[in-house]
Amino acid sequence: MASLTLKGITKRFGKIVALSGVDLHVEDGQFCVLLGPSGCGKSTLLNIIAGLILQDEGSVLLDGQSVDRLAPRDRDVAMVFQSYALYPHMKVAQNLGFGLRMRGVPKQSIRERVLEAARLLGIEDLLDRKPGDLSGGQRQRVAMGRAMVRRPRVFLLDEPLSNLDARLRAGVRLELKQLHRQIKSTIIYVTHDQVEAMTLGDQVVVMRHGKIHQIGRPETIYERPADTFVATFIGSPEMNLYRGRLLRKDDRLHFQGPGFSLDLRGLQINLEESEVEVGIRPEDIGIGQGGTTILQAKVEMISNVGSEKYIHAHLGQGTLTVRAPKEAAFQPGQIIPLTIDPHRVHIFHEGRRI
Ligand code: ATP
Repeated sequence: MASLTLKGITKRFGKIVALSGVDLHVEDGQFCVLLGPSGCGKSTLLNIIAGLILQDEGSVLLDGQSVDRLAPRDRDVAMVFQSYALYPHMKVAQNLGFGLRMRGVPKQSIRERVLEAARLLGIEDLLDRKPGDLSGGQRQRVAMGRAMVRRPRVFLLDEPLSNLDARLRAGVRLELKQLHRQIKSTIIYVTHDQVEAMTLGDQVVVMRHGKIHQIGRPETIYERPADTFVATFIGSPEMNLYRGRLLRKDDRLHFQGPGFSLDLRGLQINLEESEVEVGIRPEDIGIGQGGTTILQAKVEMISNVGSEKYIHAHLGQGTLTVRAPKEAAFQPGQIIPLTIDPHRVHIFHEGRRI
């Protein structure tokens, strides 16, 4: 296994800047997830690491050594595609060993490595079947196995679970995490699914428009989003975000939002009279009296997801989503008191966290 370093990677397709000055370091054995909306440059970056696309500027290093001049097959990285790209006429065992056969690895060695991968992935009983006779989850495991038998320095996975239905995806996600624990390989994993990113990644890289917005552990990205894009992209339901002004009233800091005022007592911010954005996660809003800051919201709609409810309400001239226990019994039109701990509030100035 190897560490991966990207230095100033830039890629243009004609006038489109797909990647712009991307710097990243992934430790040996780390599970790194590239997360971002469609078109943010994730797949292009993965293809550049694999050597399938050449960057215009910047460098790709494995264990500190540049691989820019190496062809894809000489980089010793293995890619697992969204489509799995299995050979339909070959049995699973042949699919697993194909890459090794092409590289002239001795037969006995291929057999051993195929069996080892099949054992790790729990697909030993599928070795004699053809891909057409497998379920989506089993095909995904075979595709992973084909990469594993090569014992690459880095695994590159491009949305490998997107062809699976939601239930299967959750199961395969757990298996993948377990597998990573066992083989301790360096994995770069591309997804636009924040749940996948948060549950799988040791490190999550949030991207948009060809740039990295934040790199961090999942909990850091969630608890301390670097900017308003990361704040609203991560988390479901989305963080409530309001534009307004910081004011000092009665020696206390307040946020004057659209039609409501939030008491921010206890916070020390040197941006009085400045325009800021305030973010509040739906689960950080208490229902009822008793907290520091009390607001009144008018219930508009309730979404029941079974394990809990989301209350969509009007707050001043804005809207607000609050996470509530499943027992919560509110009606549209009802006025409810809400409490907010100022220390759970996220404040952004010119889009950046302060
Ligand atoms: P998705 O999740 O939809 O696959 P992505 O984040 O992987 O998106 P990329 O496929 O890397 O995004 O594309 C980044 C940008 O570069 C997009 O604007 C895309 O249209 C553009 N792009 C990618 N490949 C090419 C190409 N071969 N020619 C022209 N433009 C391209």
